[in-house]
Amino acid sequence: MFRKVRGFRDIYGEEIGYWRKIEEVIYSLSESFGYSEYKMPVLEKAEVFDRGIGSTTDIVEKEMFAFEDRNGDLLALRPEGTAGVVRGVVENKLYAGSGVKKYYYYGPMFRRERPQKGRYRQFYQYGVEAFGSASPLVDAEVIQLLCSFFDKCGIGEFLRLEINSIGCPECRPGYKNKLIEYFSKYEKELCEDCKRRLSTNPLRILDCKVPGCKKVASDAPVMIDYLCSECRKHFDSVKYYLEISGIDYDVNPFMVRGLDYYVRTAFEMITDKFEANSTVGAGGRYDGLVKQLGGPDYPGIGFAVGIDRLVNLIKEAGLTYEETLDIFMVMFPETVDAGLKLLKSLRDENWGVDMDFELGSMKSQLKKANRSQASYVVIVGEEELGKNAVTLKNMTDGEQQLVLLDELKNILSQKL
Ligand code: ATP
Ligand code: MG
Repeated sequence: MFRKVRGFRDIYGEEIGYWRKIEEVIYSLSESFGYSEYKMPVLEKAEVFDRGIGSTTDIVEKEMFAFEDRNGDLLALRPEGTAGVVRGVVENKLYAGSGVKKYYYYGPMFRRERPQKGRYRQFYQYGVEAFGSASPLVDAEVIQLLCSFFDKCGIGEFLRLEINSIGCPECRPGYKNKLIEYFSKYEKELCEDCKRRLSTNPLRILDCKVPGCKKVASDAPVMIDYLCSECRKHFDSVKYYLEISGIDYDVNPFMVRGLDYYVRTAFEMITDKFEANSTVGAGGRYDGLVKQLGGPDYPGIGFAVGIDRLVNLIKEAGLTYEETLDIFMVMFPETVDAGLKLLKSLRDENWGVDMDFELGSMKSQLKKANRSQASYVVIVGEEELGKNAVTLKNMTDGEQQLVLLDELKNILSQKL
Protein backbone atom coordinates (compact mmCIF):
# COMPACT_ATOMS: atom_id res chain seq x y z
CA MET A 1 0.00 0.00 0.00
CA PHE A 2 1.21 3.51 -0.78
CA ARG A 3 0.83 6.47 1.53
CA LYS A 4 0.59 10.08 0.56
CA VAL A 5 3.60 12.34 1.03
CA ARG A 6 3.82 14.02 4.45
CA GLY A 7 1.98 17.33 4.62
CA PHE A 8 -0.16 16.49 1.54
CA ARG A 9 -3.75 15.34 1.70
CA ASP A 10 -6.74 14.00 -0.19
CA ILE A 11 -9.93 16.03 -0.32
CA TYR A 12 -13.15 14.17 -1.11
CA GLY A 13 -16.61 13.21 0.09
CA GLU A 14 -18.55 15.66 2.25
CA GLU A 15 -15.62 18.07 2.32
CA ILE A 16 -15.98 18.65 -1.43
CA GLY A 17 -19.31 20.43 -0.89
CA TYR A 18 -17.47 23.31 0.80
CA TRP A 19 -14.87 23.52 -1.93
CA ARG A 20 -17.44 23.55 -4.70
CA LYS A 21 -19.44 26.32 -3.08
CA ILE A 22 -16.29 28.43 -2.58
CA GLU A 23 -15.11 27.78 -6.13
CA GLU A 24 -18.47 28.96 -7.49
CA VAL A 25 -18.11 32.18 -5.48
CA ILE A 26 -14.53 32.65 -6.75
CA TYR A 27 -15.50 32.43 -10.41
CA SER A 28 -18.76 34.36 -10.32
CA LEU A 29 -17.67 37.13 -7.95
CA SER A 30 -14.29 37.79 -9.61
CA GLU A 31 -15.97 38.06 -12.97
CA SER A 32 -18.67 40.36 -11.65
CA PHE A 33 -15.85 42.72 -10.58
CA GLY A 34 -14.37 42.56 -14.09
CA TYR A 35 -11.42 40.25 -13.35
CA SER A 36 -10.50 37.51 -15.82
CA GLU A 37 -8.83 34.24 -14.96
CA TYR A 38 -5.07 33.80 -15.27
CA LYS A 39 -3.75 30.25 -15.37
CA MET A 40 -0.03 30.25 -14.76
CA PRO A 41 2.24 27.20 -14.49
CA VAL A 42 2.68 25.35 -11.23
CA LEU A 43 6.41 25.08 -11.96
CA GLU A 44 8.70 28.06 -12.59
CA LYS A 45 12.39 28.81 -12.59
CA ALA A 46 13.27 29.15 -8.89
CA GLU A 47 14.68 32.58 -9.62
CA VAL A 48 11.18 33.92 -10.37
CA PHE A 49 10.34 33.39 -6.71
CA ASP A 50 13.75 34.46 -5.36
CA ARG A 51 13.29 37.77 -7.16
CA GLY A 52 9.52 37.98 -6.95
CA ILE A 53 9.03 37.16 -3.28
CA GLY A 54 12.45 38.13 -1.92
CA SER A 55 15.39 35.96 -0.98
CA THR A 56 15.26 36.95 2.71
CA THR A 57 11.65 35.82 3.22
CA ASP A 58 10.69 32.64 5.08
CA ILE A 59 9.07 31.31 1.93
CA VAL A 60 12.24 31.47 -0.15
CA GLU A 61 14.73 30.79 2.65
CA LYS A 62 13.02 27.75 4.15
CA GLU A 63 9.80 26.72 2.47
CA MET A 64 10.26 26.26 -1.26
CA PHE A 65 10.08 22.90 -2.97
CA ALA A 66 13.02 23.66 -5.23
CA PHE A 67 15.12 21.14 -7.12
CA GLU A 68 17.58 20.84 -9.93
CA ASP A 69 16.07 19.57 -13.16
CA ARG A 70 17.90 16.96 -15.29
CA ASN A 71 19.25 19.72 -17.51
CA GLY A 72 20.62 21.65 -14.55
CA ASP A 73 17.83 24.28 -14.36
CA LEU A 74 16.86 25.24 -10.84
CA LEU A 75 13.05 24.89 -10.68
CA ALA A 76 10.48 25.37 -7.92
CA LEU A 77 6.84 24.50 -7.30
CA ARG A 78 5.03 27.80 -6.92
CA PRO A 79 4.70 28.80 -3.24
CA GLU A 80 2.27 31.62 -4.12
CA GLY A 81 0.67 33.17 -7.16
CA THR A 82 1.79 36.77 -7.53
CA ALA A 83 5.36 36.16 -8.72
CA GLY A 84 4.15 33.84 -11.50
CA VAL A 85 1.45 36.24 -12.68
CA VAL A 86 3.94 39.12 -12.72
CA ARG A 87 6.45 36.98 -14.63
CA GLY A 88 3.63 36.36 -17.13
CA VAL A 89 2.70 40.05 -17.36
CA VAL A 90 6.32 40.86 -18.23
CA GLU A 91 6.89 37.91 -20.57
CA ASN A 92 3.61 38.44 -22.45
CA LYS A 93 3.99 42.23 -22.43
CA LEU A 94 0.57 42.66 -20.88
CA TYR A 95 1.65 46.07 -19.66
CA ALA A 96 1.41 47.39 -23.21
CA GLY A 97 -1.46 49.74 -23.99
CA SER A 98 -3.53 51.70 -21.58
CA GLY A 99 -6.18 50.64 -19.15
CA VAL A 100 -6.16 48.47 -16.07
CA LYS A 101 -5.50 44.73 -16.38
CA LYS A 102 -7.37 42.71 -13.77
CA TYR A 103 -6.68 39.01 -13.22
CA TYR A 104 -7.61 36.34 -10.72
CA TYR A 105 -6.22 32.86 -10.15
CA TYR A 106 -7.19 29.81 -8.16
CA GLY A 107 -5.12 26.68 -7.58
CA PRO A 108 -2.62 24.75 -5.49
CA MET A 109 0.50 26.27 -3.93
CA PHE A 110 3.38 24.38 -2.30
CA ARG A 111 5.41 25.23 0.78
CA ARG A 112 7.62 22.90 2.76
CA GLU A 113 6.42 24.00 6.20
CA ARG A 114 5.95 21.97 9.36
CA PRO A 115 2.52 20.36 8.85
CA GLN A 116 -0.13 21.23 11.44
CA LYS A 117 -3.77 22.23 11.54
CA GLY A 118 -4.41 24.88 8.89
CA ARG A 119 -0.91 24.47 7.48
CA TYR A 120 -0.31 22.06 4.64
CA ARG A 121 2.46 21.50 2.12
CA GLN A 122 -0.02 21.69 -0.73
CA PHE A 123 -2.73 24.25 -0.11
CA TYR A 124 -5.01 26.28 -2.34
CA GLN A 125 -5.13 29.97 -2.88
CA TYR A 126 -7.54 32.30 -4.58
CA GLY A 127 -5.95 35.60 -5.49
CA VAL A 128 -6.40 38.67 -7.64
CA GLU A 129 -3.93 41.12 -9.16
CA ALA A 130 -4.87 44.49 -10.66
CA PHE A 131 -2.20 46.18 -12.78
CA GLY A 132 -1.79 49.52 -14.45
CA SER A 133 -3.24 52.04 -12.01
CA ALA A 134 -1.83 53.66 -8.90
CA SER A 135 -5.21 55.15 -7.99
CA PRO A 136 -6.47 54.54 -4.45
CA LEU A 137 -9.76 53.55 -6.09
CA VAL A 138 -8.09 50.30 -7.14
CA ASP A 139 -6.95 49.61 -3.58
CA ALA A 140 -10.51 50.17 -2.40
CA GLU A 141 -11.93 47.90 -5.12
CA VAL A 142 -9.53 45.06 -4.37
CA ILE A 143 -10.30 45.27 -0.65
CA GLN A 144 -14.01 45.42 -1.39
CA LEU A 145 -13.73 42.30 -3.54
CA LEU A 146 -11.95 40.53 -0.67
CA CYS A 147 -14.69 41.49 1.78
CA SER A 148 -17.49 40.53 -0.61
CA PHE A 149 -15.80 37.17 -1.15
CA PHE A 150 -16.04 36.32 2.54
CA ASP A 151 -19.58 37.68 2.74
CA LYS A 152 -20.67 35.48 -0.16
CA CYS A 153 -19.05 32.49 1.54
CA GLY A 154 -21.26 33.29 4.53
CA ILE A 155 -18.55 34.11 7.07
CA GLY A 156 -18.08 37.85 6.76
CA GLU A 157 -19.21 38.30 10.36
CA PHE A 158 -16.31 36.18 11.68
CA LEU A 159 -13.65 38.32 10.06
CA ARG A 160 -12.25 41.75 10.50
CA LEU A 161 -10.28 43.85 8.08
CA GLU A 162 -7.02 45.47 9.14
CA ILE A 163 -5.24 47.97 6.92
CA ASN A 164 -2.00 49.89 7.09
CA SER A 165 0.27 51.98 4.93
CA ILE A 166 3.90 50.95 4.72
CA GLY A 167 5.10 54.00 2.82
CA CYS A 168 7.15 54.12 -0.37
CA PRO A 169 10.81 54.38 -1.46
CA GLU A 170 10.50 58.10 -0.75
CA CYS A 171 9.56 57.94 2.93
CA ARG A 172 10.40 54.41 4.05
CA PRO A 173 14.22 54.57 4.16
CA GLY A 174 14.18 57.43 6.68
CA TYR A 175 11.64 55.58 8.78
CA LYS A 176 13.61 52.35 8.51
CA ASN A 177 16.66 54.08 10.01
CA LYS A 178 14.55 55.29 12.93
CA LEU A 179 13.32 51.74 13.39
CA ILE A 180 16.82 50.23 13.35
CA GLU A 181 17.95 52.87 15.80
CA TYR A 182 15.06 51.99 18.11
CA PHE A 183 15.39 48.19 17.94
CA SER A 184 19.18 48.33 18.31
CA LYS A 185 18.66 49.66 21.81
CA TYR A 186 16.68 46.51 22.68
CA GLU A 187 18.65 43.98 20.63
CA LYS A 188 19.24 41.69 23.62
CA GLU A 189 15.49 41.28 24.13
CA LEU A 190 14.76 40.19 20.54
CA CYS A 191 14.43 36.59 19.35
CA GLU A 192 17.17 35.09 17.17
CA ASP A 193 15.13 35.62 13.98
CA CYS A 194 14.58 39.27 14.81
CA LYS A 195 18.25 39.83 15.66
CA ARG A 196 18.93 38.75 12.10
CA ARG A 197 16.01 40.82 10.75
CA LEU A 198 17.53 43.90 12.35
CA SER A 199 20.00 44.00 9.46
CA THR A 200 18.03 42.18 6.72
CA ASN A 201 14.40 43.19 7.17
CA PRO A 202 13.74 45.35 10.28
CA LEU A 203 10.07 46.05 9.42
CA ARG A 204 9.36 42.36 9.91
CA ILE A 205 10.20 42.70 13.65
CA LEU A 206 7.00 44.69 14.03
CA ASP A 207 4.81 41.67 13.31
CA CYS A 208 6.90 39.01 15.07
CA LYS A 209 4.66 36.80 17.21
CA VAL A 210 7.28 36.11 19.93
CA PRO A 211 6.06 37.83 23.17
CA GLY A 212 9.44 39.47 23.95
CA CYS A 213 9.61 41.02 20.47
CA LYS A 214 5.97 42.04 20.62
CA LYS A 215 6.61 43.92 23.83
CA VAL A 216 9.58 45.81 22.43
CA ALA A 217 7.70 46.50 19.18
CA SER A 218 4.70 47.99 20.97
CA ASP A 219 6.61 51.25 21.59
CA ALA A 220 8.47 51.30 18.27
CA PRO A 221 7.98 54.18 15.82
CA VAL A 222 5.35 53.28 13.19
CA MET A 223 5.35 54.03 9.47
CA ILE A 224 2.02 55.87 9.41
CA ASP A 225 3.58 58.63 11.53
CA TYR A 226 6.33 59.14 8.93
CA LEU A 227 4.45 58.95 5.60
CA CYS A 228 5.39 61.43 2.88
CA SER A 229 2.60 63.68 1.70
CA GLU A 230 1.81 61.54 -1.38
CA CYS A 231 1.55 58.37 0.73
CA ARG A 232 -0.54 60.16 3.34
CA LYS A 233 -2.93 61.40 0.65
CA HIS A 234 -3.16 57.92 -0.84
CA PHE A 235 -3.86 56.29 2.53
CA ASP A 236 -6.51 58.89 3.41
CA SER A 237 -8.24 58.31 0.06
CA VAL A 238 -8.25 54.54 0.47
CA LYS A 239 -9.84 54.94 3.90
CA TYR A 240 -12.36 57.41 2.51
CA TYR A 241 -13.40 55.09 -0.35
CA LEU A 242 -13.74 52.18 2.05
CA GLU A 243 -15.95 54.27 4.31
CA ILE A 244 -18.28 55.37 1.53
CA SER A 245 -18.50 51.73 0.40
CA GLY A 246 -19.64 50.79 3.90
CA ILE A 247 -16.59 48.66 4.68
CA ASP A 248 -15.44 48.54 8.31
CA TYR A 249 -11.72 48.42 8.99
CA ASP A 250 -9.16 48.90 11.75
CA VAL A 251 -5.84 50.58 11.11
CA ASN A 252 -3.09 48.31 12.43
CA PRO A 253 0.19 50.27 12.30
CA PHE A 254 2.16 47.09 13.18
CA MET A 255 1.09 45.12 10.13
CA VAL A 256 3.87 44.95 7.55
CA ARG A 257 4.45 43.01 4.40
CA GLY A 258 8.15 43.40 4.88
CA LEU A 259 9.26 43.20 1.26
CA ASP A 260 10.96 46.10 -0.42
CA TYR A 261 8.70 46.30 -3.43
CA TYR A 262 5.54 46.58 -1.37
CA VAL A 263 4.35 50.17 -1.11
CA ARG A 264 1.56 51.98 0.60
CA THR A 265 -1.51 49.87 1.21
CA ALA A 266 -1.27 46.57 3.09
CA PHE A 267 -4.30 44.69 4.39
CA GLU A 268 -5.31 41.44 6.09
CA MET A 269 -8.51 39.61 6.91
CA ILE A 270 -8.25 38.17 10.37
CA THR A 271 -10.36 35.77 12.36
CA ASP A 272 -10.22 35.10 16.07
CA LYS A 273 -11.70 31.64 15.61
CA PHE A 274 -8.24 30.13 15.22
CA GLU A 275 -5.57 30.98 17.71
CA ALA A 276 -2.42 30.12 15.82
CA ASN A 277 -3.31 30.64 12.20
CA SER A 278 -5.48 33.68 12.18
CA THR A 279 -4.91 35.26 8.78
CA VAL A 280 -7.24 33.93 6.10
CA GLY A 281 -6.36 36.42 3.42
CA ALA A 282 -3.84 39.18 2.89
CA GLY A 283 -2.64 41.57 0.25
CA GLY A 284 -0.99 44.81 -0.64
CA ARG A 285 0.21 47.20 -3.29
CA TYR A 286 3.44 46.23 -5.07
CA ASP A 287 4.21 49.01 -7.51
CA GLY A 288 7.89 48.00 -7.78
CA LEU A 289 7.42 44.32 -8.53
CA VAL A 290 6.91 44.34 -12.31
CA LYS A 291 10.15 46.28 -12.66
CA GLN A 292 11.89 43.93 -10.26
CA LEU A 293 11.03 41.05 -12.58
CA GLY A 294 12.36 42.80 -15.66
CA GLY A 295 9.37 44.86 -16.84
CA PRO A 296 8.69 48.58 -16.88
CA ASP A 297 7.44 50.71 -14.02
CA TYR A 298 3.94 49.30 -13.79
CA PRO A 299 1.85 49.53 -10.64
CA GLY A 300 0.00 46.57 -9.19
CA ILE A 301 -1.99 45.45 -6.17
CA GLY A 302 -3.48 42.13 -5.14
CA PHE A 303 -4.46 39.70 -2.43
CA ALA A 304 -4.37 35.96 -1.74
CA VAL A 305 -6.81 33.90 0.32
CA GLY A 306 -5.98 30.50 1.79
CA ILE A 307 -8.89 28.25 0.84
CA ASP A 308 -7.99 25.34 3.14
CA ARG A 309 -8.16 27.66 6.15
CA LEU A 310 -11.34 29.18 4.83
CA VAL A 311 -12.95 25.73 4.65
CA ASN A 312 -11.86 25.03 8.25
CA LEU A 313 -13.33 28.33 9.32
CA ILE A 314 -16.62 27.70 7.54
CA LYS A 315 -16.89 24.31 9.24
CA GLU A 316 -16.02 25.78 12.62
CA ALA A 317 -18.71 28.40 12.10
CA GLY A 318 -21.16 25.52 11.69
CA LEU A 319 -22.22 26.34 8.15
CA THR A 320 -23.12 23.45 5.90
CA TYR A 321 -23.09 23.44 2.14
CA GLU A 322 -24.52 20.17 0.99
CA GLU A 323 -24.20 19.06 -2.56
CA THR A 324 -27.72 17.89 -3.34
CA LEU A 325 -28.92 15.56 -6.02
CA ASP A 326 -31.96 16.79 -7.97
CA ILE A 327 -33.39 13.53 -9.21
CA PHE A 328 -32.97 9.84 -8.47
CA MET A 329 -34.31 7.67 -11.28
CA VAL A 330 -35.85 4.31 -10.51
CA MET A 331 -35.95 1.90 -13.45
CA PHE A 332 -36.13 -1.88 -13.87
CA PRO A 333 -34.58 -4.44 -16.24
CA GLU A 334 -37.71 -4.32 -18.43
CA THR A 335 -37.77 -0.47 -18.58
CA VAL A 336 -34.04 0.24 -18.70
CA ASP A 337 -34.07 1.31 -22.39
CA ALA A 338 -36.65 4.04 -21.91
CA GLY A 339 -35.11 4.83 -18.50
CA LEU A 340 -31.60 5.49 -19.84
CA LYS A 341 -32.94 7.73 -22.62
CA LEU A 342 -34.87 9.77 -20.12
CA LEU A 343 -31.86 9.90 -17.76
CA LYS A 344 -29.71 11.35 -20.54
CA SER A 345 -32.30 13.92 -21.54
CA LEU A 346 -32.65 15.10 -17.92
CA ARG A 347 -28.87 15.34 -17.48
CA ASP A 348 -28.78 17.33 -20.73
CA GLU A 349 -30.92 19.91 -18.93
CA ASN A 350 -28.11 20.20 -16.32
CA TRP A 351 -30.05 18.61 -13.50
CA GLY A 352 -28.14 16.32 -11.16
CA VAL A 353 -29.52 12.84 -11.85
CA ASP A 354 -28.44 9.45 -10.52
CA MET A 355 -29.67 5.87 -10.68
CA ASP A 356 -29.19 2.39 -9.19
CA PHE A 357 -26.91 0.32 -11.44
CA GLU A 358 -28.12 -2.89 -9.80
CA LEU A 359 -31.71 -2.24 -11.02
CA GLY A 360 -32.92 -3.74 -7.72
CA SER A 361 -36.45 -4.07 -6.35
CA MET A 362 -38.66 -0.99 -5.98
CA LYS A 363 -38.12 -1.12 -2.23
CA SER A 364 -34.34 -1.29 -2.39
CA GLN A 365 -34.16 1.47 -5.04
CA LEU A 366 -36.35 3.79 -2.98
CA LYS A 367 -34.04 3.16 -0.03
CA LYS A 368 -31.07 4.21 -2.17
CA ALA A 369 -32.99 7.24 -3.40
CA ASN A 370 -33.56 8.23 0.21
CA ARG A 371 -29.90 7.86 1.05
CA SER A 372 -28.92 9.95 -1.98
CA GLN A 373 -30.93 12.85 -0.51
CA ALA A 374 -32.42 13.54 -3.94
CA SER A 375 -35.18 16.13 -4.05
CA TYR A 376 -37.31 14.09 -6.48
CA VAL A 377 -37.63 10.50 -7.59
CA VAL A 378 -38.75 9.62 -11.12
CA ILE A 379 -40.10 6.06 -11.33
CA VAL A 380 -39.96 4.51 -14.80
CA GLY A 381 -42.28 1.50 -14.40
CA GLU A 382 -43.88 -0.71 -17.03
CA GLU A 383 -47.38 0.32 -16.06
CA GLU A 384 -46.53 4.03 -16.28
CA LEU A 385 -44.75 3.62 -19.62
CA GLY A 386 -47.92 2.01 -20.97
CA LYS A 387 -49.57 5.39 -20.39
CA ASN A 388 -46.56 7.34 -21.80
CA ALA A 389 -45.94 8.57 -18.29
CA VAL A 390 -43.72 8.22 -15.20
CA THR A 391 -44.37 8.62 -11.48
CA LEU A 392 -42.86 11.73 -9.92
CA LYS A 393 -42.30 11.55 -6.17
CA ASN A 394 -41.49 14.61 -4.06
CA MET A 395 -39.05 13.35 -1.43
CA THR A 396 -39.72 16.24 0.93
CA ASP A 397 -43.43 15.57 1.47
CA GLY A 398 -43.71 12.08 -0.05
CA GLU A 399 -46.40 13.18 -2.50
CA GLN A 400 -46.65 11.26 -5.80
CA GLN A 401 -48.19 12.13 -9.14
CA LEU A 402 -48.46 10.54 -12.56
CA VAL A 403 -46.78 12.82 -15.11
CA LEU A 404 -46.93 12.49 -18.91
CA LEU A 405 -43.43 12.09 -20.42
CA ASP A 406 -44.09 15.13 -22.64
CA GLU A 407 -44.75 17.27 -19.60
CA LEU A 408 -42.03 15.98 -17.27
CA LYS A 409 -39.35 18.57 -18.07
CA ASN A 410 -41.78 21.46 -17.76
CA ILE A 411 -43.00 20.29 -14.41
CA LEU A 412 -39.49 19.61 -13.10
CA SER A 413 -38.26 23.00 -14.20
CA GLN A 414 -41.02 24.63 -12.13
CA LYS A 415 -39.94 22.61 -9.11
CA LEU A 416 -36.12 22.55 -9.32
P1 ATP B 1 1.32 32.58 7.84
O1 ATP B 1 1.75 33.80 8.58
O2 ATP B 1 0.09 31.93 8.44
O3 ATP B 1 2.43 31.61 7.55
P2 ATP B 1 1.71 33.73 5.28
O4 ATP B 1 2.02 35.15 5.57
O5 ATP B 1 2.81 32.80 4.98
O6 ATP B 1 0.79 33.12 6.43
P3 ATP B 1 0.64 34.42 2.71
O7 ATP B 1 1.90 34.10 2.01
O8 ATP B 1 0.24 35.84 2.89
O9 ATP B 1 0.63 33.67 4.12
O10 ATP B 1 -0.55 33.60 2.01
C1 ATP B 1 -1.92 34.03 2.07
C2 ATP B 1 -2.79 33.00 2.74
O11 ATP B 1 -2.50 31.67 2.31
C3 ATP B 1 -2.60 32.91 4.24
O12 ATP B 1 -3.32 33.92 4.87
C4 ATP B 1 -3.16 31.54 4.56
O13 ATP B 1 -4.58 31.59 4.64
C5 ATP B 1 -2.78 30.73 3.35
N1 ATP B 1 -1.61 29.89 3.63
C6 ATP B 1 -0.31 30.23 3.66
N2 ATP B 1 0.47 29.18 3.93
C7 ATP B 1 -0.37 28.11 4.08
C8 ATP B 1 -0.17 26.72 4.37
N3 ATP B 1 1.02 26.18 4.52
N4 ATP B 1 -1.27 25.92 4.45
C9 ATP B 1 -2.51 26.44 4.28
N5 ATP B 1 -2.75 27.73 4.01
C10 ATP B 1 -1.71 28.57 3.91
MG1 MG C 1 3.90 31.44 6.13
